Amino acid sequence: MGKVYLTGAGPGDVELLTIKAHRVITQADVIIYDRLANPEILDMAKDGCEFVYVGKEDGKHTLPQDEINEVIYQNALKHNVVVRLKGGDPFVFGRGGEEGAYLHERDIKFEIIPGITSAVSVPAYAGIPVTHRGVAVSFRVVTGHESPNKKESQIPWENFKTDDTIVFLMGLHNLEKISSKLQEVGKPKDYPCAVISRGTTKDQSVVIGTLENIVQKAKGVPTPALIIVGHVVELREQLKWFEKN
Ligand code: SAH
Repeated sequence: MGKVYLTGAGPGDVELLTIKAHRVITQADVIIYDRLANPEILDMAKDGCEFVYVGKEDGKHTLPQDEINEVIYQNALKHNVVVRLKGGDPFVFGRGGEEGAYLHERDIKFEIIPGITSAVSVPAYAGIPVTHRGVAVSFRVVTGHESPNKKESQIPWENFKTDDTIVFLMGLHNLEKISSKLQEVGKPKDYPCAVISRGTTKDQSVVIGTLENIVQKAKGVPTPALIIVGHVVELREQLKWFEKN
């Protein structure tokens, strides 16, 4: 029986892969990968490495999660080094926990290799720090996949009144609902926010706006994209660097 490495691939820029992730990728007998992982990473694999695509788009599954779990398990029965490669970090909306638990129940050894999450690195490439002295003392990373109007919403919208930074992942298709919900719980309509698309890659684009106009401004922006809300967005003026290189 082999060992499974639940591995973060980072947000897109291939140089944001960790040294540890790079090591297991070069040793892998099979790589089970996501849509978000930069495909250039697969070129690092040794000759004869097998590739299995189980990607999903904005929460819509190509394969249901239980089938992905089973694919990983079956590969662990056949191969020594199994790399389960996921965009960003495997435990940040990556369902790595479910995969680990499935393997645990079947006595398959695994390791978690954390990755650089898009939640922090994509804003950084846009020149937006998620915390900043005197501006934001904390940040939250929230799923934007759940509709804010859902009755039994798990998201504590009432807590978002503070001036802390909020990063929504998987939220582009709910942008309109998210911006109205934030205004409903008391944020001013001129509150700063940004949509960052394909961050850390050569296709990165950044739309800066307010809760009132962001929906209009971000029309047609391609995925993957995240939404960042808070006064830290204003720091981009001084801190944007990626576009200048
Ligand atoms: N585990 C991943 C997140 C998975 S959820 C991580 O830690 O980064 C997928 C969401 O991440 C996307 O819907 C998008 O909101 C965000 N995302 C991932 N890569 C991105 C990128 N390069 N640019 C912008 N957003 C990205």
